[in-house]
Amino acid sequence: MTLPFSIDLTGRVAVVTGGGGVLCSQLARALAECGAKVAILDLDAAAAEAAAAALRADGHQAQGFAANVLERASLETAAAAVNRAFGPCDLLLNGAGGNHPKGTTTKEWLEEADLDDESLTTFFDLDPKGIEFVFNLNFLGTLLPSQVFARQMIGRQGCSIVNISSMNAFRPLTKIPAYSGAKAAVSNFTQWLAVHFAKVGIRVNALAPGFFLTNQNRKLLIDETDGGYTARARKIIDHTPMGRFGQPEELVGTLLWLVSDAASGFVNGIVVPIDGGFSAYSGV
Ligand code: NAD
Repeated sequence: MTLPFSIDLTGRVAVVTGGGGVLCSQLARALAECGAKVAILDLDAAAAEAAAAALRADGHQAQGFAANVLERASLETAAAAVNRAFGPCDLLLNGAGGNHPKGTTTKEWLEEADLDDESLTTFFDLDPKGIEFVFNLNFLGTLLPSQVFARQMIGRQGCSIVNISSMNAFRPLTKIPAYSGAKAAVSNFTQWLAVHFAKVGIRVNALAPGFFLTNQNRKLLIDETDGGYTARARKIIDHTPMGRFGQPEELVGTLLWLVSDAASGFVNGIVVPIDGGFSAYSGV
């Protein structure tokens, strides 16, 4: 059988926010390897440029740009610079996101005695600033770049946005109410924006990665004293039918499928779990 499509992104301009991070630097590489000109945006300008330099060293077109996904002015400045370097944005991967300890409870369940234990962060101790930080980073940090870069997509063919949601958007994970709620908002926004943009030809979908060991979750998953898995990490693996964490490159196929009009031109407003079966497993 001859496939009716190939993933050829030659000449397309891809913008990857959080592209200096673990998962999105891999995803940026995949886009570059399919021929896209890749703009790597990150709050950490050095990380963005390092990721871009690694791509250029392999013969790809890539450039790093400092940008804060929470500040529209910063995004406008980056968008103008990307436009000058590569042209208008065709593909936006909203990758910047993450959790914060201030939005995290110490324990999974509250017990009465916990209220007298000052060493614990209970639900009642959660700092509104921490919750706000996590909500803003994940939700506003997806919405604002979409406002800035989708503006350049209007009136052009084959443009698409891919957001990054999470397992905890389907069912919240213990300890992290802010991150769970914020990623649920990202999934909801993915559907909203897909509908809103349907008549202007911009598709909007999301990846929902399961568990991948990266900087943002290392403290929760790796025991600092012995370098082994924490009880939480073991619990995750026990609830992942495939029995392991994911590898960043295992997100690539779904991303390329979603950004390719030839491959997924009628796919719009979906959130794809990439989780080794975690979301399918009831635990029994
Ligand atoms: P990471 O911490 O390695 O990368 C995140 C990047 O975002 C960093 O380079 C950071 O500098 C950048 N960033 C942070 N704040 C920013 C801001 N205000 N403006 C611009 N850039 C900013 O994390 P990762 O694990 O690679 O996560 C990438 C995405 O995948 C995130 O949205 C995360 O929530 C999501 N995710 C990760 C997992 C996992 O298991 N690691 C699972 C589900 C979803």
